[in-house]
Formats: sequence, structure tokens, C-alpha cells
Amino acid sequence: MNQTVLVVNSGSSSIKYQLVDPADGHAIASGLVERIGEGSSLLRHTYGENKIEEDNPIQDHAMGLERVLDLFSSIGPNLHESNVVAVGHRVVQGGAFFDRATVVDSDVLRTIEALVPLAPLHNSANLTGIKVAQRLLPNVPHVVVFDTAFFQSLPAASATYALDREVARKYAIRRYGAHGTSHQYVSKTVADHLGRMDLKQIVLHLGNGASASAVDAGRAVDTSMGLTPLEGLVMGTRTGDIDPAAVFHLARNAHMSIDDIDNLLNKRSGMKGLTGQNDLRIVHSMAEAGDRNARVGLAVYAHRIKKYIGSYAAVLGGLDVITFTAGVGENDAKMREMATEGLEFLGIKLDHSRNRASGRGIREISRDSSKVKVLVVPTNEEWEIARQAVAAI
Ligand code: ADP
Repeated sequence: MNQTVLVVNSGSSSIKYQLVDPADGHAIASGLVERIGEGSSLLRHTYGENKIEEDNPIQDHAMGLERVLDLFSSIGPNLHESNVVAVGHRVVQGGAFFDRATVVDSDVLRTIEALVPLAPLHNSANLTGIKVAQRLLPNVPHVVVFDTAFFQSLPAASATYALDREVARKYAIRRYGAHGTSHQYVSKTVADHLGRMDLKQIVLHLGNGASASAVDAGRAVDTSMGLTPLEGLVMGTRTGDIDPAAVFHLARNAHMSIDDIDNLLNKRSGMKGLTGQNDLRIVHSMAEAGDRNARVGLAVYAHRIKKYIGSYAAVLGGLDVITFTAGVGENDAKMREMATEGLEFLGIKLDHSRNRASGRGIREISRDSSKVKVLVVPTNEEWEIARQAVAAI
């Protein structure tokens, strides 16, 4: 019987999970628990044709995961008969300590705990999820897979902020990146697809969160997210790059607290701040109906991506392939067009009918004459976590 890995992603008020075959990425079962601790919670579990959705209060992660394990018993598949060889946990921040997936022990838990100040909401939620899962599934190894690990290879020139060296050292301020599991999966998939390991690649992960990376022969050499996932591209609700002096300006003149500004930059900005909507599908229809804010919002979003493409081509000293992935990257042909328009001088030529053709799986959307290949590759972070978990045990 094939091995399986239970992949768990615990957020502050949610748990997402998938039972994955690490050999081919097949999701045998999947589900989520949302709005934990908020009165009415949502639980959804899918196993082949069998689906269940419940709307009961779930007080905490322990209760949520217990309920999930009940559903595996009642709806299937039975975990005791599924050859589960590991539980793979997504962890957002691994700091400078983890450059690969690692089997959980008490030292690992202490280190993740020590990193909570760098990712207060995420790492503490991830920790809760790991501890609960360890208690409920004590007989399998638990492995942590860090969103930052792929970017531990960044050269000092790109990982270092030009900040007072002592302050940066004392408070561990540097560029850690995020979405690393996705960038790693996609860049590896591209190398396999093109049959070349020495590629100079730009990966654009455009989802609700968005990030770009520059990958040279499989090694990440730059990325747009920094100390936290706030830096870089324009996102659903986050500003991306902004002059940090805007924070001082708001504190001094708008008398906003640090928490208010944190909330503004992370939750009320990006496309939502510019247009009122964070879903690009809605923003495009607003723009088509003549909404000026929506047009400007899309232009700002595309302009930022284009800036990163140009700067990463320079960082890499050349470019072989650009790959779009995640919700916007995989589905939004118009945005792919806007973000690559006018880049023919870099050897980037989109084929408009290939770009517009709908399809699943890996797709080439550049012209045959394009020096730089442009691809769409569906990301699969769960598969990558499952593969890394198996490699770690
Ligand atoms: P997350 O970052 O939450 O994992 P996804 O990668 O699934 O999210 O991306 C979700 C976003 O993808 C949505 O908010 C929406 O903006 C965008 N999206 C999904 N489908 C389309 C589409 N057909 N056209 C444009 N944007 C899309």
C-alpha cells in the first residue's frame, strides 16, 4: 500500500488539512475547519465522492482536530489503514535556524516558540496545531516544513537590510522571505519540465498574498517578502513595498497606534485599500465597467510585478523563464499580459492566444520566438510538504 502524509496547516482560527500520496501528490482526502473559537465554526471534509459540511461551535484547535479525526473514522479514509508515515506541518517562520524540513522534538518546538516575535499570529497558531496533533497522533513522526527555509540560501547581499548592524543582529532583522514551499515546488517543477537544472528563473506567486523570487540553478538568490510577508508585491490586502517613513508620518500626524498601522498596512491596503475589493476577478469587472480606482489599482499591481521582473533579471544576470502561479498567476490572463507588456527588450514575448487559452496543468504561454519562456504552473504546497516530510524522516 502507498505511503501517505497528513499535511496540516494551522492558522490562528483555522486548520486546513490534506491526506497526500507523496509519490504523485494525489490528495486522497482534504478539509478545513474555519472560525475556530468564534461561536459558529465551519467544518468541511471531502473523501472522494463523500463530502460533509458542518456548522457547529468549535472552541479551540484541540476540539477542531479531534473532530477532523472523527470524520476520518466515520467518512473515511480510516487513518489507521492509510499507511500514514508522517504528519507534515506548515510553519511560517523558521528564522535563521531551519533551512530544511525537520522532525519535531522538544528543541525544535522551543525554537519555533522563540521565533514567535517574528511572526506573532502565525507561529503561535502553528505551534498549537503541532502540539495538538502530536497528542492525538502520537505514533507517527511529526515534521515541520518552513515557509522561510528555501530562502535561507539567499546571499548576504540580498538578505541584509542596510540597517545599523548591531540593531539588526540583536533583533534578528533580515530578509527571511515567505511562500518558500511554493517557490521551491514551482522552480523544481519548471526545471523538470524543461529538463534543465541550470535555469535562471523568476517565480511569481500571485495569490491573496503575493511574492516574487529569483532562482539560479535551483538556489533562491532573491525574494520580495522580507522580515515579514508585508514587503514586496501589491497583495490582496497588504501594501507590499512602501516607504517606512509613512509609518512615522501616520503615528505623528494621524495619531495612529502601532497596532492600528499594522492593521492598516496588512489588512486594509493592497487591492482592497485601492479598490474596495481584494479579489482580482471583481476588480477586473469593476475596471471594465469604468471604475477609475479599479483601473489604477490594476495598473499599480502590474507595475510592481514588472519592477521585480526587471530587477531580478539584473540580479540573475540573465533570464531563461518566468513562471506564474497561485490564484491570480494561474487564472488571470489579463494580469499576466499587463505584467509582461513592454518587456520584449528583455526577450519576453507573450503569445496572447496561448495566454488566453484556458487549461490546467503546466502551460507555456510565450511565443516560440521568445528568448525567455513564460509558463503557468499550478502550485502544490501540500505535495511539496508531503515530499519534504518523507525526506526528513
Ligand atoms: P491564497 O493566497 O489565499 O492561498 P489563492 O492562491 O487561492 O489564495 O489566490 C486567491 C486569489 O486569486 C483570489 O483572491 C483572487 O484575487 C484570485 N483569483 C482566483 N481566480 C481568479 C481568476 N479567475 N481571475 C483573477 N483572479 C483570480
